[in-house]
Amino acid sequence: MSRKKRLDVVVVGAGFAGMYALHKLRSRGLKVLVYEAGSGVGGTWYWNRYPGARCDVNSLEYSYQFSEELQQEWNWSERYSPQPEILAYANHVADRFDLIKDIQFDTKITKLNFNEDKRLWFGLTEQGEKFCAQFCIMATGCLSKHNIPNFEGIDNFQGELLHTGQWPHQPINFSGKKVGIIGTGSSAIQSIPIIAKDAAQLTVFQRTATFSIPAYNAPMDRGYEQQIKSNYKEFRAHNSQRYAALNNNPSHLSAMEVSEEEREAIYEERWLEGGLPFLASFNDLGINEEANATAIDFIHRKIKSAVDDPDIAELLCPKTVIGCKRLCVDTNYYKTFNLENVVLKNLNRSPIQRITDKGLKTKDAEYEFDILILATGFDAMTGALLAIDIRGRSNKTLSEHWKDGPANYLGLSMNRFPNLFMITGPGSPSVLANMMVGIEQHVDFIADLLSFMQNKDKLQVEANADAEENWVRLVNRIADQTLFSKGCNSWYTGANIPGKPKIFMPYLGYPSYVEKCNEIAADGYRGFEFF
Ligand code: NAP
Repeated sequence: MSRKKRLDVVVVGAGFAGMYALHKLRSRGLKVLVYEAGSGVGGTWYWNRYPGARCDVNSLEYSYQFSEELQQEWNWSERYSPQPEILAYANHVADRFDLIKDIQFDTKITKLNFNEDKRLWFGLTEQGEKFCAQFCIMATGCLSKHNIPNFEGIDNFQGELLHTGQWPHQPINFSGKKVGIIGTGSSAIQSIPIIAKDAAQLTVFQRTATFSIPAYNAPMDRGYEQQIKSNYKEFRAHNSQRYAALNNNPSHLSAMEVSEEEREAIYEERWLEGGLPFLASFNDLGINEEANATAIDFIHRKIKSAVDDPDIAELLCPKTVIGCKRLCVDTNYYKTFNLENVVLKNLNRSPIQRITDKGLKTKDAEYEFDILILATGFDAMTGALLAIDIRGRSNKTLSEHWKDGPANYLGLSMNRFPNLFMITGPGSPSVLANMMVGIEQHVDFIADLLSFMQNKDKLQVEANADAEENWVRLVNRIADQTLFSKGCNSWYTGANIPGKPKIFMPYLGYPSYVEKCNEIAADGYRGFEFF
């Protein structure tokens, strides 16, 4: 049996959250080790290598701000960074801050059990390696457990079966190939226009149409970059006061208080600007169905003007409220359906019955493919955590604790799971705010909490049961005031995974979240219990 490693902190995952946790906690003198399932750093940007993968947040915002030197020295080449460049950035950060020596790659954690007598977490890796640590930081990512639907016959397919979230490292040659893709979320919307350029034929299987805004991606405007860099700190501070911690220029107008012409002009301006700020065109798109309907109408008209075949255009027009599912950002998505080699199939009319050895069979037809792509998303927010057998006090399992949904306090801590923290967990702004900003805020909060414990000679901390219950209630109360939780089957609520408890998971409103965290910390970490 190998010797057990004894650590102060074990971090699970070497994406941007795990990397910063390692840097921060190591700098506080703690012995930290990161376990990472992949062979390199970067998390989501390590795994999602499908053609066209890029960030939908501006490069100058989707980056760390903890080091002024780092944010000054790194130059992004495009407005929205492509996956290889973000991965290169992650590697640069790992080198620059000497992180690799404390990361163990190719290692999946299978068990984490809290020992109440020793007040330590005991862990096991897939390879049978054992370790123990006082603290566990789960930097496992919100979109890291990929979802493979339970299609009958999926193992029979003789061609190449790919998932966008587990893309091979070598380039895939689509040239002259018959390709099928299931799903039309962000990953599909980015990859479809690129694959369509090479494939002999591309068949897209759509169950739910999604709203997509053009990215208008472009080479980085060096003048703009310089302007931001000359005042980076203020730029970041300003953005942190925004609802989603993004520089999205939110409107103070209601869509219902302006004339039709004015509304149209505002939407048009936002459309030409491109990207996620479209949702900030008016201040009530997320709360008022009538206002939301005006945005839907605008986008439907855009889709109909981009797509030649009126039936295909109609099928591409989403019937849900806008914002209920994550808004997509694309380059040439809708126009791709004008290409002769691209076909759109409606799974609502003719659902997939099974995967065959040559392709797939729907209710009405049979298809043959060389390559079949699952762009079917993720078991979001909770999937990666529940994949580990986590047992807290009294041997309570996380799956038992979360049987009705992910109970938590601040999206950081859970009752009966002492000294275990999540970064951008369910209950935190996470995916509905700039992830990089949320990651740094969470890690800083945890680091300060650990210092507080050290100063008070405390060895154990966890959320108390009341704080947890009240927090979940608050997260849902806020979501219930919006349209985010209504009118569609989104991964925000777990509704994309059969059998998963349906509950809205992200906390809406980054600034108010931070305010609450700061208040709680100032009040001696109210809601946490120390032993
Ligand atoms: P997704 O948004 O969950 O989309 C999955 C797609 O697969 C949906 O169209 C879904 O249809 C379909 N699907 C799932 N199960 C199916 C089944 N059994 N039969 C038929 N269709 C099925 O996943 P994603 O596209 O990977 O994106 C996930 C998230 O990752 C995004 O929302 C975004 O937050 C993030 N992401 C970001 C970027 C970026 O920064 N630009 C890029 C990619 C991903 P239904 O809608 O009907 O369920």
